[in-house]
Amino acid sequence: MSTQEYFDQGELVAVLTAQPLDRTLDYKAPEGGCFLGAFVEVPLGPRKVLGVVWGPGQGGFDLSKARSVIRVLEVAPMREEMRVFLGRVADYTLTPMPSMLRLATRAPGLGDPPSMRKIYRLGQGEPDRMTDARTRVLEVLRDYGGLAFTLKELAEQAGVTSSVVKGLVKQGAVREEDSPRDLPYPHLDPDLPGKTLTEDQTAAVAKLQTGQRTGDYGTTLLKGVTGSGKTEVYLEAVAEALRMGRQALVLLPEIALTAEFLTRVEARFGARPAEWHSGATMTERRRVWRMVGQGDAQLVVGARSALFLPFRDLGLVVVDEEHDTSYKQEDGVHYSARDMAVLRSAICGARVILASATPSLESWANAEAGKYERLDLTSRFGAAVLPEMQPIDMRAEQMQPGTWISPSLRQAVRQRIERGEQSLLFINRRGYAPVTLCRACGEQIACDHCDARMVEHRFLKRLMCHQCGETKPMPDACPSCGVEGKLAPVGPGIERLAEEAEATFPEAKIAMLSSDLFGSARALKAKIEEIAEGDADLIIGTQLVAKGHNFPKLTLVGVIDADLSLHGADLRAAERTFQLMRQVAGRAGRADKPGQALLQTFQPEHPVIRAILSGDEEGFWKAEAAGRQAAGVPPYGRMAGIVLSGPEVGPVFDIGNTMARNDAPLREIGAQVFGPAPAPIARIRGRHRVRLLVKAPKGAPIQDAIARWIAPLRLKGDIRLTVDIDPQSFY
Ligand code: ADP
Ligand code: ZN
Repeated sequence: MSTQEYFDQGELVAVLTAQPLDRTLDYKAPEGGCFLGAFVEVPLGPRKVLGVVWGPGQGGFDLSKARSVIRVLEVAPMREEMRVFLGRVADYTLTPMPSMLRLATRAPGLGDPPSMRKIYRLGQGEPDRMTDARTRVLEVLRDYGGLAFTLKELAEQAGVTSSVVKGLVKQGAVREEDSPRDLPYPHLDPDLPGKTLTEDQTAAVAKLQTGQRTGDYGTTLLKGVTGSGKTEVYLEAVAEALRMGRQALVLLPEIALTAEFLTRVEARFGARPAEWHSGATMTERRRVWRMVGQGDAQLVVGARSALFLPFRDLGLVVVDEEHDTSYKQEDGVHYSARDMAVLRSAICGARVILASATPSLESWANAEAGKYERLDLTSRFGAAVLPEMQPIDMRAEQMQPGTWISPSLRQAVRQRIERGEQSLLFINRRGYAPVTLCRACGEQIACDHCDARMVEHRFLKRLMCHQCGETKPMPDACPSCGVEGKLAPVGPGIERLAEEAEATFPEAKIAMLSSDLFGSARALKAKIEEIAEGDADLIIGTQLVAKGHNFPKLTLVGVIDADLSLHGADLRAAERTFQLMRQVAGRAGRADKPGQALLQTFQPEHPVIRAILSGDEEGFWKAEAAGRQAAGVPPYGRMAGIVLSGPEVGPVFDIGNTMARNDAPLREIGAQVFGPAPAPIARIRGRHRVRLLVKAPKGAPIQDAIARWIAPLRLKGDIRLTVDIDPQSFY
């Protein structure tokens, strides 16, 4: 990277844009010059595009033809740390730099001058005559000292119409000013009193704060059962970062979790932090982006892409529920926010806290190897105890066809309803039924564009493809044989389970929680709050409920099908089942009443089910680690998934075969290629998908080898290639 920090007017600079080009473009620095890292607007053909000054120009062409930077935007230049970070993520994930820049500028109107609004304060002038209304306005302004109001706020406070205020402005008794809309975030005070911590918590906080004060990089795995007070603990690390004048970022896996978290931040620090997620409006996003860059947002809570915000001095990143799969982005730039949080922190000298009750095997292994520090919180806070976990052996239960709640589970739920406590029935399937079968010809209704079955959604009265989102009305006749009235649902989804629950417990108030049943994040948030306050006897939920929500009245969790995810082809099937079951069970008994978790299973003696029930976590991880080590798979080996796709299957396979034949760059580093083979979902949105898997020894330079392997490929027509380093899902 260049050491030159400033370019005079007319000097040639290299500008990185978000346009799909494989290089930077040269421009002349504008009037007044520009700094390295400056955000600029440059001409590209007939258009104006956003770019960042990336270094001195490359030259090598007729300089009289060079065009000039149009203008430098009024935002903080991109810091060196960020430029290095983007470059490293690009190298790690094999992503072109323009895509990285797009990820780092995901806020609209960055180039616009700060948008302004009118604010009102007490003026010097005297009104010609006083009325009651006018007196009230002036009193409000005097009462609040020097504070400024918007027109609406002032009129409301004084109980007058806005024309009264406007009248006072004309007379000079009230002053009207322009003020930027993107205001700094309210100050968070780390020295407000926090909760009194337990001995365990105090010890963990002391370690984290000592680490924080070094000002150097370091990662800690904070492992604690659900309800052990991890959040309270990491908030004290946030406090320490703020005391040092540094910024903190807390990543959460699910927007619906932010509401509770914001309340807790407000209780601890006296104000709310900045929020960055898909539920935020465009203006909010721009405000966050700008304020983070100028250091006027001390704490950001957000989704994975918040990691690419232009922090001025990032001192701490917390990744809560670090095992959660939503931290891996699987379109566009394929990155793991957890892993990239560690990378960014290593560059900028920040601390990382990975918090989880059920850590990923990756993080567990890094702690074992001494790369991460590990802190354990072993008991639940207060009177809360861990739920008792038991299997329900489905081979011994008397089940009516088309029902999924066993007599044993039914009895346990009924008991809770009688005691006025909540129960949760967990099923990890959206919709009414996963399969719609024709009883005349045996056909299963499939998506026209994907290699996937359509899932019936009764609420929507439609069939839906969970791959491409396509929906169609439920037909009366089988699309294959034409026979009418023979289509039947097979297997349970959350809607069908709710139907059974309504029939079984007619006296109960039932709430359904599934990501597709709510129009907005806000509606979902509201529902979760209602349930937490006790407004439901029985909750029927999908994966969504497994994630960190606090339902104090919940004392029973029933898992409808604990075997569901055991047998995937995925190398993480056992790990995922273990995490999910322990997380779901952890929802029970979080307050003063003890909880119970019942797992319906057809194979109670399966080693994973046994590990879940026994709670021997270390034993489970050791066994899982040994298995992966023997197989040379992550985290003890490296993997990459390559997916080729196109409208015709033949040409896609041809390229896959060419790649498999020309695997010299991979063999050089001791890597193997598997495939090409049809991907597990062989067609999505009409595109045929062919997959290759690369497996390399740990420590092998897999990115470099893959880059050399795919460089000579010429993809013709509509064929696309995506590379996923450290793939988390295999589809
Ligand atoms: P986790 O993040 O490990 O699931 P939380 O931090 O959410 O646990 O704590 C669980 C519950 O216990 C929360 O309601 C929290 O406010 C409460 N809690 C935890 N520690 C304390 C403490 N030291 N004092 C008071 N309440 C606490
Ligand atoms: Zn589809």
